[in-house]
Amino acid sequence: MYAPLHPDPALPPVRINLYSDTQTRPTAAMKAAMVEAEVGDEQAGLDPTVNALCERMASLLGKEAAMFLPSGTMCNQIAIITHCRPGDEILAHGTSHILTSEGGGAAALAGAQITPLPGPGGQFDAAAVRAALRPRTRNAPPQALLEVEQTANAGGGTIWPLAVLNEVAAIAQEAGLATHMDGARLMNAVVATGIPAREMAAGYDSVWLDFTKGLGAPLGAVLAGSRDFIDAAWKWKQRMGGAMRQAGICAAACLYALDHHVDRLAEDHDNAKALARGLAQIPGLTVEAPETNLVFFDTRGTGLTAAELYARVRSHGVNFSISSTHRGRACTHLDVTRAQIDEALQVIRAALA
Ligand SMILES: *Cc1c(COP(=O)(O)O)cnc(C)c1O
Repeated sequence: MYAPLHPDPALPPVRINLYSDTQTRPTAAMKAAMVEAEVGDEQAGLDPTVNALCERMASLLGKEAAMFLPSGTMCNQIAIITHCRPGDEILAHGTSHILTSEGGGAAALAGAQITPLPGPGGQFDAAAVRAALRPRTRNAPPQALLEVEQTANAGGGTIWPLAVLNEVAAIAQEAGLATHMDGARLMNAVVATGIPAREMAAGYDSVWLDFTKGLGAPLGAVLAGSRDFIDAAWKWKQRMGGAMRQAGICAAACLYALDHHVDRLAEDHDNAKALARGLAQIPGLTVEAPETNLVFFDTRGTGLTAAELYARVRSHGVNFSISSTHRGRACTHLDVTRAQIDEALQVIRAALA
């Protein structure tokens, strides 16, 4: 659905990369921290840097234990397969990453089915959860897990209000479901609201944070939960080949990101607002007001599809991602400066003039 990831050699290099915060490069200081990392055998629990990261993340997320994994997708899939049995049902938003962007992993790996819940901005409310809950009959699929995404990526990088997070989690728990938070961009929500991560995750049995989004690490994500949950999840980490060796090299980048790249997410949010203001002034573009670092816009009024607009700006070294026929997503991050936002706006304006 997004534009091709592979660079077309006929095109000039990308100068201003609004495609995704996943494409940030590790900074020189982050690489220096990686080089100096103390390492050991992660699978055996002997990598001191991984252990330090997991302890810090368990505390940050308010859980008993945590586990280092290569990617956010593996965090979601291991959480799903730990919480669910084959035939179980997961309640998640219709635009959720686990439903749209993980290769059908819930079905393929856990044998679980996802029922999409409706609601604006990638979020659902208490009424939507109540409407989806089924009586526990012989013929109904066992409902096992409720999942939320903070921030909601395809929903527009929106921030779930704390009260709604707590309310939908409480309803699910009362009905006997486990609860899981996809916190790929959780720290964006934390920085934007000032609400600590542990408070946002309090109603959730499992939660994870991605280090390869706005936090700018080359790889790594941390999944947290109760000691029993992480114990059970370790079996799946092992089975799926997610148990690692000298992974401290990568955990050091994550620790560096926690120290140096969290507060600066506010800059990305400011840049996203500036970008949205500029885009809204371009005739034909309709812009969704950004709450964090993702700026979604609709191209219908320009007479162009998102892909057609993409092609025009890409030839000038600017990119973004395509989320559907007329919907584009521009993402601000560590490698995009305010000056580049202004330049990108000029390119987009010229492309539509
Ligand atoms: C990126 C993303 C993921 C997957 O994380 P990876 O580290 O790319 O595997 C999961 N959920 C959401 C909401 C994301 O944005």
